[in-house]
Amino acid sequence: MQRSTRAVVLGCGLAGMLAAKVLTKYVDRVTVLERDALGEDPVARAGLPQHRHAHFLLAGGARALDSVLPGTIRSLIDAGAHRLGFPNDFVTFTPAGWQQRFPERQFAITCSRGFVDRHVRRRVLDEPRVDLLDATEVTGLIGDATRVTGVLVRNRQSGATGGVRADLVVDATGRGSGALDWLAALGAPAPAEKVIDCGLMYSSRIFTAPASARAGFPAVTVALDPWSGEPSRSTVLVPIEGGRWLITLAGTRGAEPPADEAGFARFARSVADPVVADLMDAAEPHGPIYRSRSTVNRRRYYERMPVWPEGFLVVGDALGAFNPAYAHGMSIAAKGALALRSTLDRHGLRPGACRRAQRLLARTVRPAWAAATDQDRLYPGVSADGLTRIALLRLRMSRRLMATAVSHEPTAQAVADIFALSGSVAGLAKPEVLWALVRGCPRPEPDSAPPFTPEELSAHPFLGVG
Ligand SMILES: Cc1cc2nc3c(=O)[nH]c(=O)nc-3n(C[C@H](O)[C@H](O)[C@H](O)COP(=O)(O)OP(=O)(O)OC[C@H]3O[C@@H](n4cnc5c(N)ncnc54)[C@H](O)[C@@H]3O)c2cc1C
Repeated sequence: MQRSTRAVVLGCGLAGMLAAKVLTKYVDRVTVLERDALGEDPVARAGLPQHRHAHFLLAGGARALDSVLPGTIRSLIDAGAHRLGFPNDFVTFTPAGWQQRFPERQFAITCSRGFVDRHVRRRVLDEPRVDLLDATEVTGLIGDATRVTGVLVRNRQSGATGGVRADLVVDATGRGSGALDWLAALGAPAPAEKVIDCGLMYSSRIFTAPASARAGFPAVTVALDPWSGEPSRSTVLVPIEGGRWLITLAGTRGAEPPADEAGFARFARSVADPVVADLMDAAEPHGPIYRSRSTVNRRRYYERMPVWPEGFLVVGDALGAFNPAYAHGMSIAAKGALALRSTLDRHGLRPGACRRAQRLLARTVRPAWAAATDQDRLYPGVSADGLTRIALLRLRMSRRLMATAVSHEPTAQAVADIFALSGSVAGLAKPEVLWALVRGCPRPEPDSAPPFTPEELSAHPFLGVG
């Protein structure tokens, strides 16, 4: 009789639950081990501190998520998440002025981070082959440098320790992953690691939206400016479930937003346009202001290790975490699940499959890593080492592209595809885009008003008209 096979997934965040879903096709049993106690099936929890801050799930990630877990985006929207067309449902002040709200090309899903998490968790746990042990902290790996055969665990409530055996262990424990230490304890060599940190600080608070704006309101952002040579500040208002707005202020090193109420309001007015501060004045604040410095770009190059243990994989933020201002993390986690599926479809759990999967996972991380870290090197206090001439040229091109996209629709469409992780730079190779890039486009007046539509202006008296 054939022995039954088991995978354990460490962490019940997005990367972990999507990996668990993918694995149901290849093993008999998938057990998710989660450090947090999930008794009340919470939306906010200690292991998901980023829940307090604005999140966009970009179209490319949403499509990947739906491919792994069909119907999830529809059911998220039915449950209260917002689907915002891009760029039409975004009021965005860029370093080149207000982005014109051209018709929808892509989209983004907005709701609180924990709302996505709980939704996905529930759907994956409906799978008969998946179970979850909560309050279970993973403290190490079992095996040796050539093969991982399980994990060491500690129950957070009773303090009891033990081991869980598995044919495959997937580390999805996020930014705080202990995999470097765990592998070292097995005698495996350390992978190269890179950290690029522009010192970005997030400061966020939830508001009840004014009655007229509880549905159908755009996202509003004043973007960071990497080219100013100064510490940069931004604001973002994201509509989330329950008729609420999640407002996040962000500042790079030297321009960090404060956590006190008066400072929060002052900072919101100090950015290039006070639109979010004005909207905040029309809304009712709820609960405290939360801050986060979990914003460094960190990449671990597991795929380059000379020997990779069989039976072990690292996914999600544990593999590559990005400056959240680029809104890439969830989408890359979902695309990573697709990479895992395609490797396992081809190679099953045969020897070498984990190494192959780890290489493919690295490929899903690479473009987002390059985009985030090249740009972050422009901020004060970040070493420009590693910013190659090619990268600098790419950045200058992208600056021109963004400035052109503000008022030129074909360019805005190509940019929307790239931004939403739904298209490549090949989309730029259109005569009308190339011509606009060469010729340049008229810039909007710097002091022009936020581009709310006539319908929005008449529907929402707090916008000052109506
Ligand atoms: C401030 C901020 C804003 C962001 N904004 C965006 C955005 O707009 N768009 C976007 O796509 N992404 C954004 N991100 C990134 C996004 O939140 C992450 O990429 C995404 O959550 C990755 O999920 P994950 O499953 O890899 O890790 P996590 O969500 O961090 O999940 C890790 C899980 O592992 C558990 N765990 C940790 N250690 C252990 C252990 N030893 N044993 C057992 N369990 C453990 C944790 O409790 C947690 O449940 C943002 C991140 C931050 C910090």
